[in-house]
Amino acid sequence: GYSSCIAAPSTDRCIFPVKAKVHGDSILFRLQGKVAIVTGGASGIGESTTHLFWKNGAKVVIADIQDELGQAISDKLGENVCYIHCDVSNEEEVINLVDTTVANFGHLDIMFNNAGIVDRPFGSILDTTKSDLEQVLRVNVVGSFLGAKHAARVMVPQRRGCILFTASACASIAGMATHSYAVSKHGVVGLSKNLAAELGQYGVRVNCISPSGLVTGSTAGQGATPEQLEAGLRKLGNLKGKILRAEDVAKAVLYLASDDGGYVSGHNLVLDGGFSVVNPTILKAVGLIQ
Ligand code: NAD
Repeated sequence: GYSSCIAAPSTDRCIFPVKAKVHGDSILFRLQGKVAIVTGGASGIGESTTHLFWKNGAKVVIADIQDELGQAISDKLGENVCYIHCDVSNEEEVINLVDTTVANFGHLDIMFNNAGIVDRPFGSILDTTKSDLEQVLRVNVVGSFLGAKHAARVMVPQRRGCILFTASACASIAGMATHSYAVSKHGVVGLSKNLAAELGQYGVRVNCISPSGLVTGSTAGQGATPEQLEAGLRKLGNLKGKILRAEDVAKAVLYLASDDGGYVSGHNLVLDGGFSVVNPTILKAVGLIQ
């Protein structure tokens, strides 16, 4: 039959038309009753995912180090979203994040380890310092490890849960990012698969999302406007007529986080319009593409 937004606190949170068709008990809100943590949730992919999770009925904890931005999002979205300051590379803060989430919301269903940094400039290994490498690994790899470890600590006894990471298309194709960043994202994909192997027995799914380039906070300040950056991405992209946005990444994360992705584990979902599987040199040489 037809129904308005059942099981929804307010109709403005419905992602479907108000007269959406529902079959039997099917749930309009794909994360109704779920509790999620989004690290790096104050900006970019994390911010978009926080919005989409919330729209789908989840309770969301934003974990970030940008306190004002994180708090402002939480204030705007209301009681089902809260902000907790957490530097993901600091184990005490990660413990506090997970324990406070469980104390406030009762359980933890989705841990999205998304916080990440890039080092600059994009240059030769000869110009890359040991501290560049260590700093990127500290957030991207150690931070992901700690988030996953403490999420698993509460998910294993629950016998269910979903751990997600933001890796990058640079773990699928070489030459897309700095050496430090590429090392870190290969590490994230490896960690995700290794965890899927251990945690499957407890009903916990573990997956990665790997976007190619998109304009977010982490691409700002590179001496170009967002429009210029997007124009560059448009030119480089394999798939034309579309550009990757944080909202697109959030939709893929929602798929993995929800029951729609209920049998997906150990997967690295690459969101790059085919970029990392195409080597255009032959097609260019024979004149099939420009
Ligand atoms: P962003 O800068 O907009 O968001 C990253 C967020 O992480 C920021 O809010 C930042 O404050 C937070 N953060 C940084 N260090 C932290 C720490 N130690 N503890 C807690 N939070 C911290 O950038 P984004 O592009 O949305 O990045 C999200 C993820 O996506 C990152 O892992 C990034 O590596 C990955 N990624 C980005 C792109 C891209 O082109 N933008 C492509 C592939 C993967």
